[in-house]
Amino acid sequence: MALLGMALLETAGCFGTRERFPAKAVWRCASHRTPYSHRGIDRTAGVAIIRAFPNTLHAHTQLAVIGGGPAGLRAAEVAAAAGVRVTLFDAQLSAGRKFLVAGKGGLNLTNNEAPERLVTRYTGPAQPAGIWRGLLADFDADALRAWAAGLGVETFQSSGGRIYPLALKAAPLLRRWIGRLRDLGVRFEMNHRWTSLVPGTPHRLAFGNGTSVTADAVVFALGGASWPQTGSDGAWMRHFETLGIACHPLAPANCGWNHPWPPEVLAAAEGQPLKNIQVRAGDATATGELLITRHGFEGGAIYQLGPALRGMREPAIAIDFKPTFSHARLVAKMESVRRGFLAESKVRWRLSDAAFAILARNSWHDAAALASEVKHCVIPLDGPRPIGEAISSAGGVCWSGLDATLMVTHYPGIFVAGEMIDWEAPTGGFLMQGCFATGSRVGRSAAAWVTAL
Ligand SMILES: Cc1cc2nc3c(=O)[nH]c(=O)nc-3n(C[C@H](O)[C@H](O)[C@H](O)COP(=O)(O)OP(=O)(O)OC[C@H]3O[C@@H](n4cnc5c(N)ncnc54)[C@H](O)[C@@H]3O)c2cc1C
Repeated sequence: MALLGMALLETAGCFGTRERFPAKAVWRCASHRTPYSHRGIDRTAGVAIIRAFPNTLHAHTQLAVIGGGPAGLRAAEVAAAAGVRVTLFDAQLSAGRKFLVAGKGGLNLTNNEAPERLVTRYTGPAQPAGIWRGLLADFDADALRAWAAGLGVETFQSSGGRIYPLALKAAPLLRRWIGRLRDLGVRFEMNHRWTSLVPGTPHRLAFGNGTSVTADAVVFALGGASWPQTGSDGAWMRHFETLGIACHPLAPANCGWNHPWPPEVLAAAEGQPLKNIQVRAGDATATGELLITRHGFEGGAIYQLGPALRGMREPAIAIDFKPTFSHARLVAKMESVRRGFLAESKVRWRLSDAAFAILARNSWHDAAALASEVKHCVIPLDGPRPIGEAISSAGGVCWSGLDATLMVTHYPGIFVAGEMIDWEAPTGGFLMQGCFATGSRVGRSAAAWVTAL
């Protein structure tokens, strides 16, 4: 039976060693140094469980971190550095898949914006006053750069304050990070899809592969629902709702929006950028780029307007193709023109090919009307692109159910971090910074919690 028990413990990735304690023999997880007799689960009980549920193993960890994205990895790092025994579970075969995807186009780790401006980047319904000020004061862009440097990855600042690793890639950083976590004693349990939680003392967690564990504290860092192929599919939300933890539905953020372009616009402008423009949605204004796609628009300018567009009953944007020119100045530049206004505008107003293709949907018989359209071109939108295509998600666990330590107020010892909390931020490094800041906070909070038990 001892051999059977050992074999089954190993199946769960928990390589047990038999050790003799003064009173009785117990199973001890080699890396956790925690006897399985903890909280009354001794060897005899373990064998009983194995008999009744051949696929079910029962182990105990001080802190279970579920989700191996940047928020979960950071929480695990902070808690382990504080001396807590941490086991990190992820549904995927390896951790940090979205982190790696983010590195494909250059990993924008954070942003060097001034603190007063930085805190305004984080929005979401009913955020507690000052929550981001505190989170970012505890772990700001300098702290994130220093953290990367500590792993031997130097960073540089590009336009708009964006901070990247010198090599731009995520893989070297992730490799070293996971190496550091292993050195700190963090145990990794991949291919473990969390499926249920029974809160209590200890909390009981079950996984899709039949494994179950108990933990003194749990950090959930399950991400949003964009790019579900990386593992974050938002399926956690129905489990949270079953537990009575209030959540706002996940919605695509930093995403493209649909507009049915006529074939002639696509033929002329698909894949072309609109640069140096100003875009409005209701009262919100964005500068940056828009890209014409076969579905409508992509690009930084429309990503920034996502929260405003989602709040509009009939979403639409108004583009100013020439924000540095007044209407009067545009008209003055066409003074001598009597016909062919659109063709002339390309030269005299230096309109881009993409702007030209959009404006060419109508015919123009005077400069003033064309100038009005150039300054205020309204384009109705049919809705956002699917959440699977988005860069991030809005919605998630409501702030009203969390305290300042990011603990679920109804369930002491259960914490949440990262994109699964109900906040959103534009692209530019703000998302990653938010995940690191919340991960740092829960790592500290969970460590304090288990240490005080
Ligand atoms: C294409 C792309 C490019 C991006 N580029 C940038 C960028 O340059 N800069 C930036 O700041 N942000 C960027 N982002 C956003 C950034 O990657 C995310 O905001 C960040 O990864 C979220 O971190 P997280 O830890 O909260 O969740 P995630 O990174 O999504 O990690 C969640 C983890 O939880 C696991 N999980 C989910 N459900 C379960 C379950 N039931 N059981 C067990 N495990 C589960 C998943 O497998 C996953 O590993 C980009 C995103 C995309 C899609």
